[in-house]
Amino acid sequence: MINRTFTMIKPDATEKGSTGGILQMINAAGFKIVAMKMTHLSKEKAGEFYAVHSERPFYGELVEFMSRGPITAAILEKDNAVEDFRKLIGATNPANAEEGTIRRKYAASIGENAVHGSDSDENAAIEGSFFFSALEKF
Ligand code: GDP
Repeated sequence: MINRTFTMIKPDATEKGSTGGILQMINAAGFKIVAMKMTHLSKEKAGEFYAVHSERPFYGELVEFMSRGPITAAILEKDNAVEDFRKLIGATNPANAEEGTIRRKYAASIGENAVHGSDSDENAAIEGSFFFSALEKF
């Protein structure tokens, strides 16, 4: 079934100039970009986006990191989008990410891991709407 997922190219990847390479891998894997913008999250907005992790020990570090510099947010369309995109990005910790995944190629550590990918259809819709209005989704 054709569905959608949400991604962010995180500040570490933006800083390293990896945005183009990551978008190329996303397109080559058959995802269609149906919304995209570059933006810079405030600490408040980063905290809101990751509120589900607010009790985790790394929450403060995560908020600092995600508000450190610009990101690219996008909504991606493909059949089986959520699951296939999680496969394309690889494990949270790049040390465990398989060859050929985005995190294996571009991520430095479990915290600074280059990309986000939604973990369910429901969260993909919530996260996409966090960044994009109906008029910005194609
Ligand atoms: P994901 O779904 O693969 O992105 O992983 P999670 O939902 O478990 O965690 C969300 C994000 O929090 C990850 O992508 C990392 O950026 C960050 N994170 C997860 N675990 C750690 C950790 O142990 N330390 C730090 N600093 N950040 C972490």
